[in-house]
Amino acid sequence: MRETQTNNFAKLDAEDFPTFHAGWVWLVGAGPGAPGLMSLLAYHALQHCDIVVYDALVNPDMLRWLPEGVETEYAGKRGGKPSPVQTDISLRLITLAKEGKRVLRLKGGDPFMFGRGGEESQTLAKAGIPFRIVPGISAGIGGLAYAGIPATHRDTNHAVIFLTGHDATGKMPANVNWQAIATAAPVIVMYMGVKNLGEIAEALIKAGRPADHPVTIVSNASLPSQTVASTFLSEAGAYVEAHKPPTPAIVVIGHASDWRPLLDWYSPKLMENKIG
Ligand code: SAH
Repeated sequence: MRETQTNNFAKLDAEDFPTFHAGWVWLVGAGPGAPGLMSLLAYHALQHCDIVVYDALVNPDMLRWLPEGVETEYAGKRGGKPSPVQTDISLRLITLAKEGKRVLRLKGGDPFMFGRGGEESQTLAKAGIPFRIVPGISAGIGGLAYAGIPATHRDTNHAVIFLTGHDATGKMPANVNWQAIATAAPVIVMYMGVKNLGEIAEALIKAGRPADHPVTIVSNASLPSQTVASTFLSEAGAYVEAHKPPTPAIVVIGHASDWRPLLDWYSPKLMENKIG
């Protein structure tokens, strides 16, 4: 079995995968955590880059797939030190590309989903650096699947809202129309939502969202450390205070989580498969 897998991965060098040219930056989504959730194109990029600049949310296990000699550079918060500011990261990417390196910018989930991939590629475009985006499985979809929560289901919701619980300063986003958010879709999937959950829940209830709507908090989705907690909108703030759910976490507000008791396929298998 292992033999076959190795051979198939080797075939990724085949010519139908695009060439990673010198001086290019590829912004690549690594998926929510389980290494197996990285795309084949992302894996191909790992095999053909000169340097990987990666974020805190990237599972370092994936970096073991790098060929020998590839440099790695961490661009996240570590050991209490402040994270490098976004402009510094973007400028670093430009410098590396101008040195003629094949630069793999590896980001958690999908690079364009609350991941500042938009900002980074904008800076690259303005600087005339050629780039490619390799989409990834976003935590708010693929992460939920590992908790047995379908982001949409025709019996619960025909629409879903992806929301951030933070603005650039870490506060609850100010320029959000809570009235519209509360009523527009039956299910809200919130990224970076734990810290301000109490405040956001209050805003949603004030705007008409039922106080007894289920709230599910999926922490470390798709990883062996995954945990899932359930509460209600009116109690969500107090719940977070009391239980301090681990982060990163995705918060699901609405009845999408009603399917979880039946669809929770991952918990019983948690210890079985380290790749995915
Ligand atoms: N680009 C990423 C999101 C980056 S914002 C994506 O598409 O998934 C960071 C937020 O993503 C975290 O605060 C958390 O809400 C969510 N997140 C990322 N990985 C996660 C994981 N494994 N489990 C739960 N939430 C995760």
